[in-house]
Amino acid sequence: MNMENLEKICALCPGVSVQRHVGMDKYTTLRVGGPADAMAEPENEADLCALLSAAEETGTPVLLMGNGSNLLVRDGGIRGLVIRLGKNFSAIEDRPDGLYAQAGALLSALSRAALDRSLTGLEFAQGIPGTVGGGVYMNAGAYGGELGRLIVSARVWDCAAIREIPGEDMAFAYRSSLAMEKGWTVLGARFRLEKGDPAAISALMRELAARRKDKQPLEYPSAGSFFKRPTGHFAGALIEQAGLKGLTSGGAQVSEKHAGFLINVGGATAGDFLTLMAQVQSAVWEKFGVNLEPEVRIVGEDA
Ligand SMILES: Cc1cc2nc3c(=O)[nH]c(=O)nc-3n(C[C@H](O)[C@H](O)[C@H](O)COP(=O)(O)OP(=O)(O)OC[C@H]3O[C@@H](n4cnc5c(N)ncnc54)[C@H](O)[C@@H]3O)c2cc1C
Repeated sequence: MNMENLEKICALCPGVSVQRHVGMDKYTTLRVGGPADAMAEPENEADLCALLSAAEETGTPVLLMGNGSNLLVRDGGIRGLVIRLGKNFSAIEDRPDGLYAQAGALLSALSRAALDRSLTGLEFAQGIPGTVGGGVYMNAGAYGGELGRLIVSARVWDCAAIREIPGEDMAFAYRSSLAMEKGWTVLGARFRLEKGDPAAISALMRELAARRKDKQPLEYPSAGSFFKRPTGHFAGALIEQAGLKGLTSGGAQVSEKHAGFLINVGGATAGDFLTLMAQVQSAVWEKFGVNLEPEVRIVGEDA
């Protein structure tokens, strides 16, 4: 990144502290990735929009991120500015037509807030280790639920202004959204939830958490299911039937517990994950003629 541009961005956004040369392995759940040129964690919408405008004005590429639980950053890192929305940007508020959450709120905190208000619908999201922003962008889902179905409206920066987009106009589909299509920044979302029985909500949350613990290798760094579900199949089942459980490239491995998860068994690089991904894709293609597309977002440049 052009350092002059970084100085300009800092001058245009005096309230925001910007760190330089930030190792992305500390900010992603796969625990791999080279350095980002710069990272900022704005504390409010005004600062976030000022940063986005300043980046646009200086032609600086921007990557928005939340909890880094669906990101594979290549070993050469990220040229440009990473904007991370986390606990500084995580308010959850009651609104007349539902709950509003800022983009940096964790989905676990949002599900918990729903339970505290005896609201049902978000039980499935409790074990997804991402933020509301990442969840809306990805249309995260599990156990038959999907965020997109609960959204009254998403608050976005559309590269020029803040807009409230009704949920039905957000083009939510399997692991995609209009925000992804257009490269919009998600600032927050309003959720439509029904009144429910708190004991039943809490019991379902406990049951789904136990199912995750039983089936998923939560003891290792991962990005969850590495591949999208191909139509008519399950990625994990195809990988297992191709005999790939335990296949290893450096520190990256196809989990023995759940073949849809690629895990970091220690010291993996992004290159290890990319090699392993390619091996899995080609073996599944040869055996079943099915193309496995990564669900994980692969960003940055090679070392
Ligand atoms: C153990 C484990 C289990 C998982 N289980 C599930 C599951 O059951 N279902 C599921 O759907 N996913 C699952 N995931 C994947 C992941 O948690 C989700 O995709 C989550 O929604 C990503 O949120 P995040 O905040 O971590 O996003 P990040 O990983 O930080 O980013 C993901 C993508 O969203 C973009 N993005 C993030 N925030 C914003 C924003 N505010 N505005 C615009 N773009 C943004 C990023 O640029 C990137 O392209 C799992 C991951 C792990 C590690």
